[in-house]
Amino acid sequence: MPTNTQLIETILSKLKQSYPNATYELDWETPLQLLVATILAAQCTDERVNLVTKTLFPKYPNAQAYSQADILELEQHLKPTGFYRNKAKSIKSVCQALVERFGGEVPQTMAEMVTLPGVARKTANVVLNTAFGISSGIIVDTHVARVSKRMGLTKQKAPERIEADLMRIVPQQEWIFWGPAVVLHGRYTCTAKNPKCVGCILQHVCEFGQAVGSVGWEVRG
Ligand code: SF4
Repeated sequence: MPTNTQLIETILSKLKQSYPNATYELDWETPLQLLVATILAAQCTDERVNLVTKTLFPKYPNAQAYSQADILELEQHLKPTGFYRNKAKSIKSVCQALVERFGGEVPQTMAEMVTLPGVARKTANVVLNTAFGISSGIIVDTHVARVSKRMGLTKQKAPERIEADLMRIVPQQEWIFWGPAVVLHGRYTCTAKNPKCVGCILQHVCEFGQAVGSVGWEVRG
């Protein structure tokens, strides 16, 4: 049996071969734009979010603009991303907090980020890791949660607990790479239904993949 360190080194090396430039598929140019896009990406594809933000970002160039936005107008803009009323309310409240408490800028610490209304560790990690290059933690979205559980890296269900398990075994200097690489692996290979275990780069180190072997598919977790 490999040790945790050997296991993680093997997984990292395979991920780096397959996703050398792993990054999020959301379009953004400023930390605020990434924060807004990440809020919009809940229950929506990145492609659709990118279509919406193409016209949204020029219309609302800073936190002040979102904080003063006409809520009905903002809702109409966000409609194609689904749950648009909640998303409009959330973006407006976050930007009001940014203006009131952070001079309109996105803060650069986890402790400050999670004080923003509705911002949990996942969103905070996306912004801190990606926009600022800060290893604040490991992003755990639905893909990372699923892949981690199937691989046997965690038995937890809550994203914060899964993240804590991953932070214990993945070296901190790899946290920023790990998130987007595993998201891509989950999106295109370790899919929720019918994961492509045969031929998967991680099958030989994956609990689920080894159980499946080459005899067929079975969906778990
Ligand atoms: S072997 Fe299967 S379950 Fe394991 S990571 Fe690959 S696709 Fe996912």
